[in-house]
Amino acid sequence: MAVFHPSAEYLVDYAAGNSSEALGLLVATHLALCPGCRAAVGRLEALGGALIDGMTPSATHGRSLGGALAQLDRAAQEQAVPRRSRAAGRAPMLPRPLRDYLGAAGDELPWRGLFPGIKRIALPALSGGTAELLMIGAGRAIPRHTHRGDEFNLVLAGGFCDGADHYGRGDVAVADFQVNHRPVADSDGPCICFAVSEAPPRFTGLLGQVLNLFTGR
Ligand SMILES: [Zn+2]
Repeated sequence: MAVFHPSAEYLVDYAAGNSSEALGLLVATHLALCPGCRAAVGRLEALGGALIDGMTPSATHGRSLGGALAQLDRAAQEQAVPRRSRAAGRAPMLPRPLRDYLGAAGDELPWRGLFPGIKRIALPALSGGTAELLMIGAGRAIPRHTHRGDEFNLVLAGGFCDGADHYGRGDVAVADFQVNHRPVADSDGPCICFAVSEAPPRFTGLLGQVLNLFTGR
């Protein structure tokens, strides 16, 4: 069970069909692993449908969407329960959205060396940022790095530590451009991540942006 989830604005983006291709695939893959976020997105899609139907006066939009965001936060908190340290089990390594996109099982993917101990598969056809699969060898670190815009790492197998936080299968780690970090894979096996780095243009005010999404501005 995932402990770290995309924040509410990314789920709203996704529900409104406003995610980039790269981030949309990452969120869809997280949803496949996270019943709480899946339910939250379902509620948002229903809310979006009601707004599009024009049944809700504009003065109530803020309250309705604010309530939905509060629900999302509660859903994320409800997910914050202890889980097994190694969650891979016998579940398919690649959840269906990624598997459908790649058209191959994880074992057949064409990994290429990037750094010693780190392999990569670029997904250049996805617009909206740099998307790639990373396989980090047991106990190996991704070299310390910075990036423009936000960086998202969804764990598909194994796990890694970034500072005091540990991320396992289904978890999404988000780092903005101010973060200078050096994630380290668990020592008991390789860590496989779906990583997306986005260009920076993101909204400033959450509720204003949410309203923009639903009013098409
Ligand atoms: Zn989630």
